[in-house]
Amino acid sequence: MGKKINKSERIENIVSSKQQEGKKIRIDNNSLTYSGSISVGELATALNIKASDIIKKYFFKGLMLTINSPLDDNIIAEICIENNLDFNKEEKISNDNFEDLFRIKENPGDLVERAPVVTVMGHVDHGKTTLIDAIRNSRLVDSEFGGISQEIGAYQKEINGKKITFIDTPGHEAFTAMRSRGASVTDIVVLIVAADDGVMPQTIEAIDHAKAANVPIIVAINKIDAPGANSEKVISELMKYNIIPEKYGGENIFCEISAKKNIGIDNLLENILLEAEMLELKANPNRYALGTVLEARLDKGEGPKATFLIQNGTLKVGDYVIVGTTYGKIRRMSDDLNRIVSEALPSTPVSVIGLNEVPVAGDRFVALSDEKIAKDIANFRKLKKDEENRKSSITTSITDEEGNEIKNINIIIKANSTGAAEAVKGSVLKLNIPGTKINIIRAFAGAITESDVLLANASKAIIYGFNVRPDANVRNKAIEEKVEIRLHRIIYALIEELEATLKGMRKKKEVEQYLGQAEVRQTFKASKIGTIAGCYVIDGEITSTSLIRVLRDGSEIYNGKLAGLRRFKDDVKEVKQGFECGISILNFNDIHEGDIIEAYKMIEEELD
Ligand code: GDP
Repeated sequence: MGKKINKSERIENIVSSKQQEGKKIRIDNNSLTYSGSISVGELATALNIKASDIIKKYFFKGLMLTINSPLDDNIIAEICIENNLDFNKEEKISNDNFEDLFRIKENPGDLVERAPVVTVMGHVDHGKTTLIDAIRNSRLVDSEFGGISQEIGAYQKEINGKKITFIDTPGHEAFTAMRSRGASVTDIVVLIVAADDGVMPQTIEAIDHAKAANVPIIVAINKIDAPGANSEKVISELMKYNIIPEKYGGENIFCEISAKKNIGIDNLLENILLEAEMLELKANPNRYALGTVLEARLDKGEGPKATFLIQNGTLKVGDYVIVGTTYGKIRRMSDDLNRIVSEALPSTPVSVIGLNEVPVAGDRFVALSDEKIAKDIANFRKLKKDEENRKSSITTSITDEEGNEIKNINIIIKANSTGAAEAVKGSVLKLNIPGTKINIIRAFAGAITESDVLLANASKAIIYGFNVRPDANVRNKAIEEKVEIRLHRIIYALIEELEATLKGMRKKKEVEQYLGQAEVRQTFKASKIGTIAGCYVIDGEITSTSLIRVLRDGSEIYNGKLAGLRRFKDDVKEVKQGFECGISILNFNDIHEGDIIEAYKMIEEELD
């Protein structure tokens, strides 16, 4: 029984950056809107009824309430109905819990069908890429649009007037990488098994991953054209893992295909739709979008570029988005055929431009209409993440000859070739950020391995992967060991990020900043405050938060804080040159006529 909304209006995901901000209950247009938990007393006040009436009524129903008891949503609904009011619970999401938005219960009436999101998994060489390409190519052929589809990591295929979204990156690596970040985007797994090879180790791994994620499996028995193809053998092998075809009383759909010869592909697609129908996949298009980053990179010309999978709501050009710890405004969107689009509906993958930084695949995003809230929440999340990173203590300190503290950072570099490893190493060593020191403890060509993770853990190092990726096991190990792996494809992005890390961790220098001087012309004693100096500001300004020193005949006789700054009878924040003011100093009363009060503040300055 949610509030009705116009077609053009979308439900806001985040109403306020602070849960507490704004009223918890409000009534407009005969509808009560509330958020969080509200008490008997709060509801009674809002409805202008007696709290004792609510308490009495529920007492007779066997429920003991007090004025402060929090009310359950059903009771709020009941009381609203009795008072002829519609009601609407507003999910207010605070800075650090926006993942909760993904669990929001939509009103059934707001939901419409959405396309299933499918990932293809299976053993190496069983035909994942061939199948994905076969589907993609037929898509290009049957599309009226003749252009070349860009690599956005996902695409949609239409069959019988219905769409299916395919995640382009085959294999369980992409799938588990997402899951390890808490994101689940896949509705259906297509498990591809070569009919001439049967169940293999990665087939079993894929089954385990799909089961762990509670995602239904459709089996595509591939290479039925190949000599030695034996579908029945595949079926009986899979049955050992509880993947059982419907004809044997199981729940799994089995399709025989040849990805290479384009046999059975349409039948597979139709079966995906059938499975999707059973899953009743739905979303609310009249909401600001929610979803997950499938891919992201830094484009030299266009800046951060990401593929978003919209999972709920509609994303429109001009929307603000919070993505992981960054934010931005959607400046441009393009679809899987590289066409510019102005909006994207649930289950659609789109490439977006307008983010402030490059997010990480698997990051959740939330769209909203308010830039300030987007910025506040992204900043808050970033601070929190930085804090977590600091806690995991990637640095150790040493001191240099002059006794200055030097922050030490250990890094491990893995790259796709020896040349690349050397190039990254060379660029890293050129970084010179005073107050910090980089130790490269390993720089090799090759994939990131478990041994890298163990070394990183032992030496408190960050692993930098350049054009290499850790496999799922290594990634999980890294999460377990709290080792940070940072992946890059462009040297300068890697260096920029490392530079920012170094700058962020070094100790900043605190320096004094002069604000102004006032001359003491008279002094008074006030019983509660102590001595008040009647002053004239001779230079700059004095502010109420200033630190001060008292100078007498050119030498400092006291250094401390202001207790009060007044003009006439009023407390003021600042007094500028040429004005009179009254100054009192915290814990210091020995002020004389003719003394100079100098105001200053301490600021943090970057070390040079
Ligand atoms: P992936 O490692 O799972 O992505 O497998 P690929 O798609 O790269 O396929 C591995 C090999 O199997 C390639 O040489 C394909 O040409 C071949 N292949 C894929 N599908 C079929 C098929 O339906 N029939 C036959 N005979 N070969 C296939």
